[in-house]
Amino acid sequence: MAIEKRGEQALQVSGFEYAPALESTDHVTIANRYGLFIGGSFVEPHSKRYFPTINPATEETLAEVAEADAEDVGAAVRAAGIAFRAWSQMDPSRRARYLFRISRIIQERSRELAVVETLDGGKPIKESRDVDVPLAAAHFFYYAGWADKLEWAFPNRTPRPLGVAGQVIPWNFPLLMLAWKIAPALAAGNTVVLKPAETTPLTAMLFADICRQAELPDGVVNIVTGAGQTGSYLVAHPDIKKVAFTGSTEVGKLIQRAVAGTGKRLTLELGGKAANIVFDDAPIDQAVEGIVNGIYFNQGHVCCAGSRLLVQESIQEPLLDKLRARLQTLRLGNPLDKNTDIGAINSKAQLEKIQGLVQVGLQEGAEIYQPACQLPERGFWFPPTLFTNVSQSHRIAREEIFGPVLSVLTFRTPAEAVEKANNTPYGLSAGVWTDKGSRILWMTEQMRAGVVWANTFNRFDPTSPFGGYKESGFGREGGMHGLLPYLDLN
Ligand code: NAD
Repeated sequence: MAIEKRGEQALQVSGFEYAPALESTDHVTIANRYGLFIGGSFVEPHSKRYFPTINPATEETLAEVAEADAEDVGAAVRAAGIAFRAWSQMDPSRRARYLFRISRIIQERSRELAVVETLDGGKPIKESRDVDVPLAAAHFFYYAGWADKLEWAFPNRTPRPLGVAGQVIPWNFPLLMLAWKIAPALAAGNTVVLKPAETTPLTAMLFADICRQAELPDGVVNIVTGAGQTGSYLVAHPDIKKVAFTGSTEVGKLIQRAVAGTGKRLTLELGGKAANIVFDDAPIDQAVEGIVNGIYFNQGHVCCAGSRLLVQESIQEPLLDKLRARLQTLRLGNPLDKNTDIGAINSKAQLEKIQGLVQVGLQEGAEIYQPACQLPERGFWFPPTLFTNVSQSHRIAREEIFGPVLSVLTFRTPAEAVEKANNTPYGLSAGVWTDKGSRILWMTEQMRAGVVWANTFNRFDPTSPFGGYKESGFGREGGMHGLLPYLDLN
């Protein structure tokens, strides 16, 4: 409540009101109940248990999905093991054709996928439509191109697939993370068992249908739904040769312990606390857009979000004035509205985590700014938030909030900017805003971050490797590097 009060005191929104521009849902059919996708069919779970998946913008139940137990996971791994024999021996150009087909069907069904992604996850339709779904299709298209060129990718080596990959993904980019996992694994000749996050399983269920539509051989892709327990059965299964995990650092550490000494290959894509660094010679209006995109895109549920703004002291005031003014124009509300910038927070638990850390920020003495905006009565919502007067020791400057909350710090010299940027246990991404190319190159060399964006932020491309240092994990997804974790080269 204290936070909302501050919001009311903020400057009033000026300008005109937009008419509603709701995306239609007529073309979408969501089943009441989904089984597990094993061996090319939806099957009843051995567990006989189901759990609801809800729309976080309305709290309405969208469907029930199966909760896989150890037996179910075992059945999925068996199906993938059987399918591996033929899939790994198949002429690679035929494997490529399946991946091209999947990519094309994703494009054909893009409106349906975008709407379901938005309903199940709460993200604005313009993001599901323009980012998540096209990038997922692009990933399959890109890796389809590699399937018959592995020998050229790794000259003088003999690339061989590993076997069955167990893949566990989070809820922030459900279909896109699925594509990041499945496309390179299949291109390299592996088969997979994938577990989507418990709050966002529906686009994975649609993807199972896409596999059938593409006539992908049975068992090449298997999808088991459930929560952390199901994920732990998958990770621990003895016939899994490779574990690929995207999620929190906390669970990543558990998984690393679980696979230690088993000989399983492991890649971990974990959390982040990226610095977005703005120098005094940066194009300020562009930088403001980049800051907004960096932290408020997808409600800040982005591992590589620019959640720490490092601004050169001499331009702090003009930059923050512009940023506050820009925040007032962000539209929060129905994620299905094409004009919405900030959608719903993915779950009640995530909302409580954000609220908790924002309270800590206030207690630690940081100054909050939130534009005036009305939060819908039902569903899970949090306004775009800016904290100034933040020091490096504040928890809001150190911990991943995974919400639309930006912490602003200042610096005087490039060396100080580097030191502050690297002063984090994470190392996933960073942004540099400056007019000087030489400074960009120097900063990029100094920073311990897997991805550094220059005069832009949150740009993704299937050809570009992505991954972290330190507690952000290890291994790379995307690009030719993304094939390596799925191949034996010896
Ligand atoms: P989470 O770690 O709670 O869950 C991720 C997945 O792991 C879910 O599918 C969950 O069911 C499963 N899981 C939970 N406990 C498990 C266990 N013991 N064994 C196996 N699986 C288990 O993370 P989350 O809250 O869903 O996602 C948010 C986190 O993901 C953030 O920290 C974010 O930074 C990170 N993330 C990282 C990247 C990246 O590429 N580095 C991308 C997206 C998200």
